Amino acid sequence: MQRYVVGAVVAQWEKQVEILPDEKRALVDYDYLLGHLNFLEKMVVRRIFAIPPGELGFKGPFHTLEKPANLVKIAPRTYLLQGREKYTCSQYCPEASYNDYQRMMAQMRRELGRELFIESGYRSPGMQAYLFLFYLVRNHQYSLQETARLVAFPGYSEHGDPVNNALDFINADGISGENPGQTAEDFERLPEYQWLLQHAREYHFHLSYPRGNQQGISFEPWHWHWEKPAANQENKTKPSMINSHQ
Ligand SMILES: [Zn+2]
Repeated sequence: MQRYVVGAVVAQWEKQVEILPDEKRALVDYDYLLGHLNFLEKMVVRRIFAIPPGELGFKGPFHTLEKPANLVKIAPRTYLLQGREKYTCSQYCPEASYNDYQRMMAQMRRELGRELFIESGYRSPGMQAYLFLFYLVRNHQYSLQETARLVAFPGYSEHGDPVNNALDFINADGISGENPGQTAEDFERLPEYQWLLQHAREYHFHLSYPRGNQQGISFEPWHWHWEKPAANQENKTKPSMINSHQ
């Protein structure tokens, strides 16, 4: 019964998200999505997200359900996937981490002649709820525990943090580690990933979920979060910020 209801919710939400203009998808409002459900569907969704994520094996902290004030809009980028041109939807990112991302990519382009695009930046609680239920139904046979290893509950995702937010990367050949037929190891083998391991820290980006991480999340080499530097460190990095914009 509950499976049937959750399946219907995902089908309904998929329709609602698809009719939104590209630039509104990452920001989709949770109440807007709930508003398209009947009484029973709403009850089941609320009951799922009322479960303390710790009971599902997730050990990360709660971030927030508030939308950040300083989101930068990032235009879609095109990449090739199995010879076909695809594009990342419009993405959003808090300003400070976006500036560091751009500086980091400038150095990567200079040193490797390659770059990484943002496949997923800021995600609203609505988008996070949609993703969780989508993966629950389509990829994990309704196992809440299995899904919680890959997708966080609304409010618990680093993608929703207003300052120390996470970015998911994809390269120009469409390798994200998450596209159909790809594994985390495909992303791990990329020179872009090896470069990040050496240099991301200089730009305040950190790998959130290495193998065997304490948070109970699968290895995610594409997922990096930004950490606001301490005030004294911020001053030191300012001159290089100006230089690398040239
Ligand atoms: Zn991520």
